[in-house]
Amino acid sequence: MNDSFFHPVSGFDLPRFAGIPTFMRLPHVPRDHARFSEVQIGLIGVPWDSGTTNRPGPRHGPRQLRDASTMIRAEHGVSGVRPFETVNCADLGDVAPNPADITDTMARITAFLADVRQAGITPLTVGGDHLTSLPVLRALAADEPLGMVHFDSHTDLFHSYFGGTMFTHGTPFRRAVEEGLLDPKRVIQIGIRGTAYDREDRDFAQAVGIRIVTIEEFFDRGIADVMAEAREIVGRRPTYLSYDIDFIDPAFAPGTGTPEVGGPNSFQALQVVRELAGLNLVGADLVEVSPPFDASGATAFLGASIMFEMLCVMVAPGLPGKAPPRR
Ligand code: MN
Ligand code: MN
Repeated sequence: MNDSFFHPVSGFDLPRFAGIPTFMRLPHVPRDHARFSEVQIGLIGVPWDSGTTNRPGPRHGPRQLRDASTMIRAEHGVSGVRPFETVNCADLGDVAPNPADITDTMARITAFLADVRQAGITPLTVGGDHLTSLPVLRALAADEPLGMVHFDSHTDLFHSYFGGTMFTHGTPFRRAVEEGLLDPKRVIQIGIRGTAYDREDRDFAQAVGIRIVTIEEFFDRGIADVMAEAREIVGRRPTYLSYDIDFIDPAFAPGTGTPEVGGPNSFQALQVVRELAGLNLVGADLVEVSPPFDASGATAFLGASIMFEMLCVMVAPGLPGKAPPRR
């Protein structure tokens, strides 16, 4: 058991509806905090949606997810993993964005994440729209290209928008491949669906060797089979996990800007993360939760639950792909 400083506030000491919300009720440890260097997994908010091309709102995601995450308890219901007692987790606070300047904000995100990486902390970043992943990857892939498991209903591999705008939430992984941040042959995108204007993104994926699993293939083959392929594609080398909440069917996660019908349910949304145990995850993100479209709060609660699943596979990498029965 680690130092209790890094344990979440228990609902038995302070009811979960009370107190100032941090991610998972963890201590707030900003970069100038005396114990920053002791953190092993850092939860970071990126309240920024200036890459959004249609319905905005994910800039409000981190605050809403902090509130919803007060619902999360100490122990995983299936595996029995107790992440907060296994490694030192903390809420590192928010990257301060400049909502009027995309280039400046991306530089701020990369600088923040570079400090996190320098301190040996594995980041779990909470968006924010999907453009936030690009400046995070610029920090994490400084030494070598990463593999990536990407859950989304969109590829986010487009060249540009509006006649030449290169940085939107539809382009981050095109830029990441061009910049050598991702090894395209170690990238798998799962859940792709919906209407499109053209197939330019999929043509690029095919040309560089990115594996796309459409939602039809996902449901035809089943989760265990698809995720076994995902583990094989990324292998044991450093891998990033990127999770767009619009991977999930909008019946279960309506609070997002670009929903696509015909997706996984809440249970399947959690199962796919459990299947990532055993990977060498150097960072993860959850993006595109948009509170203005989340009238019931269900999307934020599901998002917080996915974050907990991510933490459990990050702290218990030795567990087999299928979570073992409860102890
Ligand atoms: Mn996306
Ligand atoms: Mn998407």
